[in-house]
Amino acid sequence: VRFHDLNIPDRVIKSIAEMGFEYCSEIQAETLPMTLQGYDIIGQAQTGTGKTAAFLIAMISDFLDYPLEKREGNNFARGLIIAPTRELALQIADEAEKLTSNCYLNVVSLVGGMNYEKQKMSLAHETVDIVVATPGRLLDFARSRKVQLGKVECLVLDEADRMLSMGFIPDVKSIIRMTPQKEVRQTMLFSATFPKDVQALAQQWTYFPKEVSV
Ligand code: AMP
Repeated sequence: VRFHDLNIPDRVIKSIAEMGFEYCSEIQAETLPMTLQGYDIIGQAQTGTGKTAAFLIAMISDFLDYPLEKREGNNFARGLIIAPTRELALQIADEAEKLTSNCYLNVVSLVGGMNYEKQKMSLAHETVDIVVATPGRLLDFARSRKVQLGKVECLVLDEADRMLSMGFIPDVKSIIRMTPQKEVRQTMLFSATFPKDVQALAQQWTYFPKEVSV
C-alpha cells in the first residue's frame, strides 16, 4: 500500500515523502485504513515496525481534517502520546516534528530527566497541539494545570507492557482520568506483548477497538 492511496491530507503526504517513505509498513497498512476513520486500535507491534509513524499519521491527519476554530487558552492538548522512557518519547517527538513540518501543529515534549523550566516555558509560550510525554512528568504538569488534558481528541499509549512493568500504570490511570471519556476520544494502544493484565487495561481504555497484530 502506498501512503498516496490512503485518505491522508496532502500536507502530511508531503512530509512523508520528505522523510523518504513511499510504501506503508505492515502495521501502517493494517491500522491506517481504520484509524483514519477514527476507530480505536489495539496494536501488537515491536519497535522497528513503523508503529510510531502509524499512530502519528492517523493523529495528524485527523487534526488537519478537523481544524479547531477557536481556542480557549493555548495549553489544551489535542493529541497526547504517552511512552515509558525518555529515549522513546524523544524519538516519537522527533518523528512528530518531521510529520508536522508542512502544517501548523506544534509538538511539545514533557519528559522526565530533562529541563523542567524549559518545558514549563514551552507550555506557557507555545500553542500546545501534540504532547509527547513520560507519565511522571506529564502528571506534574497536568496537576498544576500547566497543560490541560480535558480536550484531548486522540490518545496514544505506546509500549503499554513496559509501562506496566516499570510501574507507571497508576500514573497513567490518573492521566487518562483527566482526558475526555473513551467514547469521545480516539485511543490507540500499542504493546509488544499482551499478557492478561495488559489486555485488561487495553480493553478498559479503548472503545470498540480494532485489533491488529504484525
Ligand atoms: P518505529 O517502529 O516506529 O520505531 O520505526 C522504525 C523505523 O522505520 C524508523 O526509523 C522510521 O523512521 C522508519 N519507517 C517508518 N515507517 C516507514 C516506511 N513506511 N517506510 C520506510 N521507513 C519507515
